[in-house]
Amino acid sequence: MHLPTFIEQKRDGHAHDPKQLAAFISAYARGKVPDYQVSAWAMAVYFQGMTPTETSALTMAMRDSGRVCRWPAGSPRKVDKHSTGGVGDKVSLILAPLLACAEVWVPMISGRGLGITGGTLDKLESIPNFRVNLSESEALAQLKEIGVAMMGQTADLCPADKKLYALRDVTATVPSIPLIVASIMSKKLAESLDALVLDVKFGRGAFMKTLADAESLANALCAVGRECGVDTKAILNPMDEPLGHTAGNALEVWESVETLQGSGPADLTKLTLDLAAAVSPVPRAQLEAWLHDGTAWKKWCQLVEAQGGRAADTEQILDIHSAPIQHDVPAPCAGTLRRLDAEAVGRACVALGAGRAKATDTIDFAVGCSSIAKTGTRVAAGHRLLTIHARTDATLAAALACLADAIEIE
Ligand code: URA
Repeated sequence: MHLPTFIEQKRDGHAHDPKQLAAFISAYARGKVPDYQVSAWAMAVYFQGMTPTETSALTMAMRDSGRVCRWPAGSPRKVDKHSTGGVGDKVSLILAPLLACAEVWVPMISGRGLGITGGTLDKLESIPNFRVNLSESEALAQLKEIGVAMMGQTADLCPADKKLYALRDVTATVPSIPLIVASIMSKKLAESLDALVLDVKFGRGAFMKTLADAESLANALCAVGRECGVDTKAILNPMDEPLGHTAGNALEVWESVETLQGSGPADLTKLTLDLAAAVSPVPRAQLEAWLHDGTAWKKWCQLVEAQGGRAADTEQILDIHSAPIQHDVPAPCAGTLRRLDAEAVGRACVALGAGRAKATDTIDFAVGCSSIAKTGTRVAAGHRLLTIHARTDATLAAALACLADAIEIE
């Protein structure tokens, strides 16, 4: 293939031949195409977009750049969830064990946090000795035993996505729907799922700022999933305020434990049940009952112990990771809380050390925000709106600066 002609084709708004597209991605994954040509191509895709046929071909080529899971014949239905990311979003920690109570397999491959979006792997790693780097055979053995495994992406899963995502990150080509779809779906399709539910967020704390953009992304994700034989559903959810009352790794594990024991916040419990019910063979009422009768909690304990942690540690996670400074942010006046901005809370968490500004940053599990008030709440002047958990006075000041315009009361 003559690469300048291939790039020119996209630059001028033409559709690629699916076979050529697959050959291009395969060559890139094998180190045969230089980054400067892929950068130029990604920018052409950013401006010109892709047809549904091209998007599917790109997704499948990225999936096939690495290993694709092969499950034993006759094994239970494989289901998973993907969220486009949000602040305080700890749904996976509750949903994975909850779904496994329904006799399905949940081979959940998750990511680390970057920017204001937290990552499931970071939250799990706040549990002492919890291992997220499972080999394929370990994951399979665990699925056979308890029906759920939560792990990171192995080096041989979608290597083309790993390279392309890193390149997009530094060439201003991340916000392109076909590139996002191929990136997300290639990893999920490599799990060889039967059913997938997508939690597509919109709003100030989300990747997609408007409902219309989130709808376009959801439709494109579902189209590719269905074309590849996966029963794919999407649910659109606002991300204007943090989910639940906490943001930060150990704080979110604590809130997940509360939810798995049946006393989680209403918004987090509802979203978890909405998503789980979309891929579960049992009715929503049964899933809800399992959150209250100890069944989901028991499955969580099995999951934690199977991956090297101690279930009891997850109940004491706030003693294990405790920040030296806890600072309450009071309501400046009385009224109804109209806005507590998710993006600002996310930025405050990064400033505290709970998230990463760049991929190589280390995480402080203890820091973050708790007791975050929900919008619509009536507050008195001086009433606590949230508590900041900080390691130092300097990071506390940085977090407070992030929150300066985050709150509206009327
Ligand atoms: N998440 C991904 O995995 N890829 C993207 O391109 C965007 C979000």
